[in-house]
Amino acid sequence: MQAARSAARGILAAANNMRAAGAAPLTARVKKVAAVAAQHAPAVDRDSRFPEEAIAAARAEQLLGIAVPGDLGGEGASIAEIVDVCYALGRACASTAMIYAMHQTKVACLVRHGRTSPWYQLVLRRLANEQLLFASSTTEGQGGGDVRNSAAPIMRDGSRISLERHATVISYGKAADAVVTTARRAADAASSDQVLVTFLKQDYTLEPVVGWDAFGMRGTCSEGFKLVASGASEQIMPVSYDKIHMQTMMPVAHLLWSAAWAGIAAAAVDRARAFVRKAAQRSGGTLPPAAAHLTRANASLRTLRGLIASSLQRFAAADPDTLETIDFQTGMNLLKVNASELAVATVTSAMQTCGLAGYRNDGEFSIGRHLRDILSSPIMISNDRILANISAASLLSGIPETLSG
Ligand SMILES: Cc1cc2nc3c(=O)[nH]c(=O)nc-3n(C[C@H](O)[C@H](O)[C@H](O)COP(=O)(O)OP(=O)(O)OC[C@H]3O[C@@H](n4cnc5c(N)ncnc54)[C@H](O)[C@@H]3O)c2cc1C
Repeated sequence: MQAARSAARGILAAANNMRAAGAAPLTARVKKVAAVAAQHAPAVDRDSRFPEEAIAAARAEQLLGIAVPGDLGGEGASIAEIVDVCYALGRACASTAMIYAMHQTKVACLVRHGRTSPWYQLVLRRLANEQLLFASSTTEGQGGGDVRNSAAPIMRDGSRISLERHATVISYGKAADAVVTTARRAADAASSDQVLVTFLKQDYTLEPVVGWDAFGMRGTCSEGFKLVASGASEQIMPVSYDKIHMQTMMPVAHLLWSAAWAGIAAAAVDRARAFVRKAAQRSGGTLPPAAAHLTRANASLRTLRGLIASSLQRFAAADPDTLETIDFQTGMNLLKVNASELAVATVTSAMQTCGLAGYRNDGEFSIGRHLRDILSSPIMISNDRILANISAASLLSGIPETLSG
């Protein structure tokens, strides 16, 4: 009986997966979306506009809802699979990759911490069926990257809630179907006593406060808004934000952002390799002196890829208790710092490989867009802030005795 039930569940999940996947394997669908993203990446960057073609393609290929569990209509994609999607998109269009990474980080929070709530089950079903796009609001007022404190409180009136927040940055806020936001639990709560709340498009208004004309990541359209929202109390996630942050929000964000940055770095290395090949062909097979920079770019890209792969393994193997340990938290915070530094170093080496051809904004070997995009990585939650936050933990944790363990 038990076996039959589990077989039926397996068939149902497989049917859901087939339906959601349109029978095409994930890698083929990602390739299609990446091709669209690559085609429009220069215009998205030039015009600082939302990558609507790429996100429409992602919707058509049902990539927005892949992480929703099979029993709620999705494909139950793992974080490892999402990491690979972010990497592939990053090679094509940095803004598309970062939008996808931010969306999937929010989805991971909903899937991993909202499953027991009927309201969230419904939202996840809608996400799978309608391919909704979720935006994120953590940055508030002058607080910068201080994600673990909120100013604006949730106000309650019976079963209704409301929130009015100075949301300094909400990437693709105008294009999103929902905003997942941190907030202070109540007017008399401490700033660190936070909740995570989902507001659907009909629940909120966004009054533009500041535009987005930035150096890179121009297609993320990371504008600032006054967010005025109301809804039902069940829209507050059933688990407090400190747990969500430690177990999902921080580690998943850092994994997916790092994957997007690795994609940008890989794209720059591709261009540098093509440059060296062409130079070698022109000079009868002799490598140009700048080939040494390509070796450097390759070396840092390898280290970056290895860092992400090992962090991914660690995350996948960790139980909820392990996720909250100081050692795990420190490791996942350092992933962000190290990945951003390696990605910047890789793109810089790729630029040096190509010399003037890389420095130019035009031409097949231009690295300009990649460099501008990747320079967002150390400031997207400032590396300085992260290092300062974990400095006490560095005193506590000792150095492991072995290299293999
Ligand atoms: C492309 C992009 C997209 C984004 N999308 C979103 C989004 O969708 N939603 C959202 O909510 N936010 C978003 N953000 C904002 C992001 O999450 C951070 O809040 C923001 O990058 C921090 O901005 P800041 O540099 O002004 O602030 P701060 O964190 O205040 O940093 C300012 C400077 O102060 C220094 N500093 C700060 N704290 C310390 C410390 N403790 N020790 C030493 N030095 C310190 C750092 O050197 C830093 O350069 C996005 C950012 C980027 C770049």
